[in-house]
Amino acid sequence: MNSAFIGYGSNLGDSRALIRRALIELSSYGPVRSSGLYRSRPVGPQDQPDFWNGVAQLQTTLEPLALLDVLQALEQQAGRERLRHWGERTLDLDLLLYGNACIQTPRLTVPHLQLQVRSFVLMPLLELAPDLAVDGTLLSSLPAATDSTGITRVDDQNWWMA
Ligand code: AMP
Repeated sequence: MNSAFIGYGSNLGDSRALIRRALIELSSYGPVRSSGLYRSRPVGPQDQPDFWNGVAQLQTTLEPLALLDVLQALEQQAGRERLRHWGERTLDLDLLLYGNACIQTPRLTVPHLQLQVRSFVLMPLLELAPDLAVDGTLLSSLPAATDSTGITRVDDQNWWMA
């Protein structure tokens, strides 16, 4: 079994329902735990709704590229509407970490490039795994790990099971 961390985000359509459905579908590939649910101000264009964000941990035997296929299929299933760069979207799923793997292929970069600078990713991720380190750096020591500007935790880790 490998431990994969997946970042989720949505600010178009019925976001909570779209994310919930994706997490339930992911559960068919192994046990899933989610962070609490967060609301965050958008990065990029400000004339768009706040995002719903969080991170899920999936214990799975799926290999990284097979998991990416699953994540992209779930994005498509949610409509995968994307109006502009850094803009609003129905569902975004990013493979943040896959065990200790370091992957650089045309389709997949792991650890995810934005991981260390995005508070809306680090805060939910650290909720699930406070002691995570990447390349010897404790993620909790990064400035973005404690910068909660524009970010609010609005629901607990069981939010998607209700
Ligand atoms: P975005 O919609 O901005 O998340 O970008 C999607 C593109 O990023 C797809 O073409 C993926 O193949 C590529 N990609 C590279 N690394 C990752 C990753 N760690 N997680 C998700 N998508 C990735």
